[in-house]
Amino acid sequence: MVGGGLAGVRAAESLRKHGYGGALVVVGAERHLPYDRPPLTKAVLKGETDFPALDADLPALDVEVRAGERATGLRLDAGRGGTLATTAGDLAFDGLVIATGATPIRLPGEGPQHVIRTLDDSLDVRSRLVPGARVVIIGAGWIGAEVATTAAKKGCAVTVVEAAATPLANALGPELGALTAPWYAEAGVELRTGVKVASVDHGGLALADGGRIPADLVVTGVGVRPEVAWLDGSGLDVERGVLADASLRASAGGVVRNDVVAVGDCAAWWSNRYGRRLLVEHWDTALNAPETAARTLLGEEAAYDVAPYFWSEQFDRFVQYAGHHSAAERMIYRGAPEDGAWAVAWLTGDRLDAILTVDRPRDLVQAKRVIAAGTPVDPALLADPAVPVRASVKS
Ligand SMILES: Cc1cc2nc3c(=O)[nH]c(=O)nc-3n(C[C@H](O)[C@H](O)[C@H](O)COP(=O)(O)OP(=O)(O)OC[C@H]3O[C@@H](n4cnc5c(N)ncnc54)[C@H](O)[C@@H]3O)c2cc1C
Repeated sequence: MVGGGLAGVRAAESLRKHGYGGALVVVGAERHLPYDRPPLTKAVLKGETDFPALDADLPALDVEVRAGERATGLRLDAGRGGTLATTAGDLAFDGLVIATGATPIRLPGEGPQHVIRTLDDSLDVRSRLVPGARVVIIGAGWIGAEVATTAAKKGCAVTVVEAAATPLANALGPELGALTAPWYAEAGVELRTGVKVASVDHGGLALADGGRIPADLVVTGVGVRPEVAWLDGSGLDVERGVLADASLRASAGGVVRNDVVAVGDCAAWWSNRYGRRLLVEHWDTALNAPETAARTLLGEEAAYDVAPYFWSEQFDRFVQYAGHHSAAERMIYRGAPEDGAWAVAWLTGDRLDAILTVDRPRDLVQAKRVIAAGTPVDPALLADPAVPVRASVKS
């Protein structure tokens, strides 16, 4: 396993679960033992924990974890297996799981610019969230909103700068993104949309229109890129992520490798469900796809074909999303946003493609099942927040 995040650890666990008795090694660039990432902008930033441990007992599974060792290159043998080059030397393998995750995008500029991807990042930002600090967050996406929530609660003067016209415009579209804008104001956070940052300088931001925003702390949350540069020259097919088929097998020069799989934030895998490649940077995929990858490596027939799911905790709200809505024909509301708890469903005909819920976790659980099963729903019943989602299924 290259990468000691959730996907790498779950792959190791799954290989054992499915009967693999040989040596297992996790090569992880971070100096820490594997830990869980979503709490970095939640419990860790709030100060509730210093180490969000992953629920995995690797010593008991006889998995060797090499923390602080980075893979630097890969040589594939003609048939099966190859050699991983790492900062500690070469490591021969019979099977390889690529699970190197993603790296935050940084903006130009010489000034101190923080991101939150690792435990060290989170602890560093946390130490700077002191009352009165002028905190400027670039990007009103999932990460930006979560950091803003905690920074405001800690008494910082928080400004969120967003290039698009609304928060979450890329993820949810401007109509729904706009519904989250009042959450910032309620929390005492200044949201400045339509503002493009030119660079992060000492003392604050230089804006594209010539303006400046002073800051004691700048946190950039404008997205991530799959961490795949170490694969340059390996011959593996990589575009934005490692290209993988529905069984999560990687390929070299278009030829599928049965001994190399890719999972989690670094993998762009073929979804039979959606008939297109997906690159999903969410916890649920890193949790569940490795089981398919492990079975594939062990020679079983397996495909990962689950509707994506994620959640965010922002401004004291629990936001969840399941499915994929880019091709949906229409969107209907369940409940009114001004009432606090609401949901939006995307449909194609009478098929439920995706759902977004705000403080309606039960809707999410039920909708996830309906989406997975593909059973038709009655849109009128689905639009009624008093009717359980499962009761909108057509009999
Ligand atoms: C702050 C934060 C909050 C999040 N909150 C949510 C949330 O609320 N809901 C949700 O659904 N998702 C959330 N996510 C996303 C979720 O955490 C990720 O999708 C998940 O962690 C991906 O797991 P992974 O194992 O693929 O990658 P990662 O967790 O990134 O692990 C990859 C590991 O590989 C290591 N690595 C990289 N390159 C090399 C190399 N060359 N050699 C060796 N090791 C290497 C990295 O150091 C890293 O430790 C959040 C992510 C972050 C950063």
